Amino acid sequence: MDKQYLIDNWQRVHAQVVAACEQADSHAEQVTLLAVSKTKPAQTIATLAQQGQRHFGENYLQEALEKINELQSQPDAEHIVWHYIGSIQRNKTRDIAEHFDWVQTVERGIIAKRLNDQRPEDLPPLNVLVQVNIDDEDSKSGCLPAELPELISAIKSYERLILRGLMIIPAKADTNAFARTQQLFEDIKDKHPDLAHWDTLSMGMSGDMADAIAHGSTMVRVGTAIFGSRE
Ligand SMILES: *Cc1c(COP(=O)(O)O)cnc(C)c1O
Repeated sequence: MDKQYLIDNWQRVHAQVVAACEQADSHAEQVTLLAVSKTKPAQTIATLAQQGQRHFGENYLQEALEKINELQSQPDAEHIVWHYIGSIQRNKTRDIAEHFDWVQTVERGIIAKRLNDQRPEDLPPLNVLVQVNIDDEDSKSGCLPAELPELISAIKSYERLILRGLMIIPAKADTNAFARTQQLFEDIKDKHPDLAHWDTLSMGMSGDMADAIAHGSTMVRVGTAIFGSRE
């Protein structure tokens, strides 16, 4: 991929996030741009890291581990914060707990427990988001809103996890998913004053970032608009 094309895209997306924050009267420094680099080579990640992009999201574990390994020795990549945003199989939790800084797709108690038990002692606690199936669709991943209280209580009791907030991937037809999730996010914050790090609402992708930010998103996950289309 052409390096300048990539940098131009990234700068444009960055400017769009800042503009959306101004529109929404929220502060751009409070909205994190997560660059979703799935299927893209490690060198594209290094290029953006050199420009100052810190947060990268990966969906496919094996591919992610290879890239993390490849970038380990590169000075520009030293400060990268890795987010796991793919679905989690039970037998993959150890690799995730050992190699990522954040996991955005926690949807079941058993997965949270395994991530907690497997987080290495020499690393800081793992930041986690609960993925919510906000459309209540059988076919979609995520915890149903009705199951949230139990999952949140469980995660709160785990010392090696820090519960930071919620993540959603809404159905395209659902035009008020962002507003409902914002409400859910605020309700949980009010109900659990002891959740000291409850500060992250991960919603919005290439096509709907501005709308998500208008509804209180604090983290937009952007792939295509930065890296171009995927194979
Ligand atoms: C691929 C992916 C994205 C990025 O989607 P784009 O439309 O390419 O911006 C965001 N979030 C998740 C969970 C993804 O899997």
